[in-house]
Amino acid sequence: MKPTPMMAQYLDIKAQHEDCILFFRLGDFYEMFYDDAVTAARELEITLTRRDKNNPIPMCGVPYHSAKGYIEKLIDKGFKVAICEQMENPREVKGMVKREVVQIITPGTVMDGSLDETSNNYLMAMTRERDFHIAYADISTGELKVTQCTEEILYNELASIKPSEIIVDVELEPALLEKIQQITNVISVHEATRDDIPKQAEELAAASKQTVRLLFDYVTATQKRDLTHIENAVYYHAVDYMRLDMYAKRNLELTESIRLKTKKGTLLSIFNETKTPMGHRLQKEWIERPLIKLEDIKRRHEQVELLNDHFFERASLRERLADVYDIERLVGRVSFGNANAKDLIQLKYSIEQLPAINDILLTIGMTAVPVEEVLSLVELLAGLEEPAPISIKDGGLFKMGYDTQLDEYRDASKNGKAWLNEMQQSERTRTGIRSLKVSFNKVFGYYIEISKANLHQFDAEQFGYVRKQTLTNAERFITEDLKEKEALILGAEEKMIDLEYRLFMELRERVKAYTIPLKLIARRLAELDCLQNFSQVATQNAYIRPTFTQRTLALTDSRHPVVEQVMSKEEYVPNDCRLDETQYIDLITGPNMSGKSTYMRQVALISIMAQMGSYVPCQAAELPVFDQIFTRIGAADDLVSGQSTFMVEMLEARNALKNATQDSLIIFDEIGRGTSTYDGLSLAQAMIEYVHDHIKAKTLFSTHYHELVELENELSGLENVHVAAKEYNGELIFLHKIMPGAVENSYGIHVAKLAQLPPEVIERANKILQQFENTPKQTYEVKEQPQQINETPQLSFDLFSSGIEDELKQLDIARMTPIEALLKLQSLQDQLK
Ligand code: ADP
Ligand code: MG
Repeated sequence: MKPTPMMAQYLDIKAQHEDCILFFRLGDFYEMFYDDAVTAARELEITLTRRDKNNPIPMCGVPYHSAKGYIEKLIDKGFKVAICEQMENPREVKGMVKREVVQIITPGTVMDGSLDETSNNYLMAMTRERDFHIAYADISTGELKVTQCTEEILYNELASIKPSEIIVDVELEPALLEKIQQITNVISVHEATRDDIPKQAEELAAASKQTVRLLFDYVTATQKRDLTHIENAVYYHAVDYMRLDMYAKRNLELTESIRLKTKKGTLLSIFNETKTPMGHRLQKEWIERPLIKLEDIKRRHEQVELLNDHFFERASLRERLADVYDIERLVGRVSFGNANAKDLIQLKYSIEQLPAINDILLTIGMTAVPVEEVLSLVELLAGLEEPAPISIKDGGLFKMGYDTQLDEYRDASKNGKAWLNEMQQSERTRTGIRSLKVSFNKVFGYYIEISKANLHQFDAEQFGYVRKQTLTNAERFITEDLKEKEALILGAEEKMIDLEYRLFMELRERVKAYTIPLKLIARRLAELDCLQNFSQVATQNAYIRPTFTQRTLALTDSRHPVVEQVMSKEEYVPNDCRLDETQYIDLITGPNMSGKSTYMRQVALISIMAQMGSYVPCQAAELPVFDQIFTRIGAADDLVSGQSTFMVEMLEARNALKNATQDSLIIFDEIGRGTSTYDGLSLAQAMIEYVHDHIKAKTLFSTHYHELVELENELSGLENVHVAAKEYNGELIFLHKIMPGAVENSYGIHVAKLAQLPPEVIERANKILQQFENTPKQTYEVKEQPQQINETPQLSFDLFSSGIEDELKQLDIARMTPIEALLKLQSLQDQLK
């Protein structure tokens, strides 16, 4: 079927915006068709209909005046929306109305409404010229950052930046695409058409210039507005910060929990005492990017200490900061040209806090915020009426006295109305008609109305009335006087609104001139907010200031910052940790649920906290500056997506083994769990040996392979520790205490006993266990004595000749609970009886 002319127009426009949901303006509605309609109906929970009975095209629509909410919802869900408007008045043209896409709203380019004030909204462009070049901007704040990196670092960067949209200039190869999609699904392919390099990129190297050009070109193409408010690009080196790959960020739950992807239970959730939106956003960045330059780290610690020492000043500082609005985004809106009067008033309030904040900083002994350049803004903005109207187009923006001309118009308009009232009175007296009215309508302006009943004895001419309109019940007149006043009143009101709008635009332009100092202030306040947050959190939770050494990590009574929050202080068992140049690997054994994983994460988190400038949950802490932290958290804890967990496990391990240095921290939690016992055991041992001999990184290695504890005898840099547990009154008590040496037994049979398996089974199991333990263990005799590998363990009973041997070999012991193991054992025994 041939499409109607309008559908042809629709299809034509849609073809140019295939990756967007097209909002097609039809009168008072935006309509969506075909797949767009199906998607939108589902996502927005609106009714899906069809175009008409004979034409089964799926369709749905939203009223144009309430479209904003629907658009925000779609953007939130990661869609892009193209707004297609009627470019002509349908009443004035014959045939098809011209339509054009006027704006494309995408997750990376939204400016208002749905923006979350606690996080940045980054739009990123990515190009490739040998290395990857990335440029990312938060359009709402004007921040623009640029770097270049290898593919490996790229993923780390993406995991920190979490852009809501990535622009590329070529289709990505599938493997790369798949990895990037783990961070964001919104990937837009765009070809830059502008020739010039944006001025913000002038200082950059050639390749980065192209990346910024791609970014700007995309924004101009979608937003159809200029980007003068974006700051000059800041180039940074990813290597200036502690390197945390995306696995570490995820596993350590720095800003997002693994399971629910929320803030709850994360390190970020501990640092929740920021008072300003920009402080909150910066806090997140500080957590994602711990420092590696000792003097930078110390500078933060020194300031936290000062704040700790000034309890009352800190309290007043916090109060003042709470009165500071989101200066960064306010300034962004001023420069972008969509700030309203309310925004400017918030800016004024924020600046008014600064002198007091500086007084406090002076007392504490901290550097003041540079306010001199912006104080005049307060005066400049003093003329704005409060509370401010939301619209800047309906007047009422300025106080009396702001502008003489404006005051005159206001007078005229106000006096004019009073004059009309008086005129009604005097005309009533003059004509003797008590029901005479002076009124207004849009078509005729002001008029005097006299009802039919009074007309027969009324001589219009005598009073100078001119007939204007005849109604069924009344006659309307005008007079010379009335016309004169009308011109004055109407003119004044219109002029007043025009003038206010103009004055507001001028004012906004003048505020724009303050952009640079305001941004500096916003940045300083954000830092200050993060530091007071560190101080507040440290005081609340009894954290201490860590010290730094070359190569020793020594924590006394350390706690897990998040886990300790969910229990009382007495419940959480603090632990020590010591790793140095001679003993740099701790092999951790202990029963399930004893606290191995918690302990290892706690050491990693404490290192991160220290390097981001925070105090740490310990009695005493001496730390090296780690260049990188790697994690591999056991399959049992790995609840992510369930996709080939063993492969993920190996990828994480590879990342660590390939990139770690002597200055790194490695957390390997039950490596090898995702495969069969001997596979896993061999891999685990090989990895430990590799770290020990070649990397010498500080390493915490927990394992359920009890066999590995023997390594202590062979590897001088490795020592065994275990998490203590004991039986008390027939119950297994977890002490959560890290002790030297290996765990004595794995408690599996213990648990079985507690579960009241038949005593015979327990007894027999203990016997078999002893036999296994007395057997030479082939897995160890690897290094210098390969001949022993072929030795078969000599068991005292000959059961391996039957099919039972195969059955035993097939068992995946690592994946069995102790009870399952015992039941299996029992069934094997039954077969032999
Ligand atoms: P594992 O890795 O040994 O199986 P986890 O580290 O997962 O054990 O810890 C199990 C539970 O024990 C945790 O959820 C926590 O509630 C508790 N726990 C761990 N460490 C401590 C501790 N130091 N003090 C108190 N409770 C702890
Ligand atoms: Mg564990």
